[in-house]
Amino acid sequence: MKISAKETAARQAIIDNCLEMNASGLNQGTSGNISVRHGKAMLITPSATPYKAMTPEMICSMPLNGEYGAWEGPLKPSTEWRFHLDIFKARADVGAVVHTHSTYATTLAIARKSIPACHYMIAAFGGNDIRCSDYELYGTEALSATALKALEGRNGCLLANHGMIAVGANLDKAMWLAVELETIARQYHGVLQIGGPVILSDAQIEETAKGFSTYGLQDKK
Ligand code: 13P
Ligand code: ZN
Repeated sequence: MKISAKETAARQAIIDNCLEMNASGLNQGTSGNISVRHGKAMLITPSATPYKAMTPEMICSMPLNGEYGAWEGPLKPSTEWRFHLDIFKARADVGAVVHTHSTYATTLAIARKSIPACHYMIAAFGGNDIRCSDYELYGTEALSATALKALEGRNGCLLANHGMIAVGANLDKAMWLAVELETIARQYHGVLQIGGPVILSDAQIEETAKGFSTYGLQDKK
């Protein structure tokens, strides 16, 4: 299969972000996975492959509207291809999906705690909370269904006893939100140790959200 220069660049960006995700401590080992929308396909990391050894040809391509689960590439796609694919199909606003087992988000997900409006940055996720999904086995349709529900109207969610998902219009934005989600999770975890948070009102989150229509990671001109 001949891969265009544009697609090779998109594949390399996935690898670069995987390396960054591990170098920054946002993820560990081969857990976590990243995908991007590319035309009529989804490009996604292969399963259980060390990021340092990953090359653009190893990234899997899956049709968005073809046979469900069909893939092209030398390696099997991430075991979580279902929720990546289902998010792209359900959410036209999403161009990239980042899934990590980052420590603080996962700690809260193990306690099955959604994150309330304890910091104004929660507004960047589309509402006044970051929900925690139900628990379902990794890689299943059931996990995909509960993840999609937790993501309704949101750009991020926790996955019970598992990790988190951040989505964005492009990979830079999804990664930006993944870092923000882990940061809020860490802050919420911290404040639970010292008596609990003061929660912002819906009106306070709404006024922040209005500002966020013009705030956030800037598109390059
Ligand atoms: P993959 O290595 O198959 O992408 O799985 C990692 C993971 O995070 C499963 O939830
Ligand atoms: Zn996972």
